[in-house]
Amino acid sequence: MKFYILDNGWETLDKSFFIAGANSATASNRNPETEWINIPIQAYLIEHEDGWILFDTGCDPDWERNWPAFIPEQSPYYVTEEQLLLNRLAQLGVAPEDIRYVVISHLHVDHAGNLHHFKNAQVIVSEEEFTATLKAFVTGRGLDVHVPSDIRHFIDAQLNWRLLRPDEREVELVPGVTLLNLGSGHSFGMVAMKVELEHTGPLLVVADAIYFEENVKPEIQVPGILYDSLGFRRSAQYLLDYAKRTGAKILYGHDMAQFETLIKSHQGYYD
Ligand SMILES: [Zn+2]
Repeated sequence: MKFYILDNGWETLDKSFFIAGANSATASNRNPETEWINIPIQAYLIEHEDGWILFDTGCDPDWERNWPAFIPEQSPYYVTEEQLLLNRLAQLGVAPEDIRYVVISHLHVDHAGNLHHFKNAQVIVSEEEFTATLKAFVTGRGLDVHVPSDIRHFIDAQLNWRLLRPDEREVELVPGVTLLNLGSGHSFGMVAMKVELEHTGPLLVVADAIYFEENVKPEIQVPGILYDSLGFRRSAQYLLDYAKRTGAKILYGHDMAQFETLIKSHQGYYD
């Protein structure tokens, strides 16, 4: 089994979205500078004897045309041609129709942007995430960074969905790859993935269930924008305990400091 980390560009935004109260004003510093940080946009690809597995699908390459204006204003996105998800796959000789499973951590703009291309795959997502996203889409309420154009694209594509029920907490997808259905937190329903690699050891891909190390060390700090703060704490603690119990290394969803230390798909892979 080979595990590839796909670099799909980066966003810049206010740190308080990631840590609630980051750079808060104090009596002695009533107008502090906000901290503007860079975060990586990433997806993961697994070469497995049972078929290719893709975890998350990056941003819509047509984002300038398709995204609501508040998103690039809140968090500008930067991407080069070679960083686009389908190009990252092509660099490895993989076409969208080759992918057997697509696992989606959640349906936000930077995780489900190219989903409609994977028509041959079984697309796995939390049932809670799927149901609440479609409800928000139809009613026009509560969409946040679930983007209507992404949703329209994946509805039109008539994908082969596999919805993880709330009672399916741990699911073995294929030997060595386990999905963790975390429930609500950062979004309506989050999915993480543990991958058992022969030489590297176990990796725990957590996406936005834990943005970066500062969200959990030295203690759990909730983000400034999230759907369910108690769910975020519960799932972050669950993932920390799970990583400890299994000896897995956590790959955070948007940790630039960690990301810079990792081998990306254009450099190599983990096995
Ligand atoms: Zn998200």
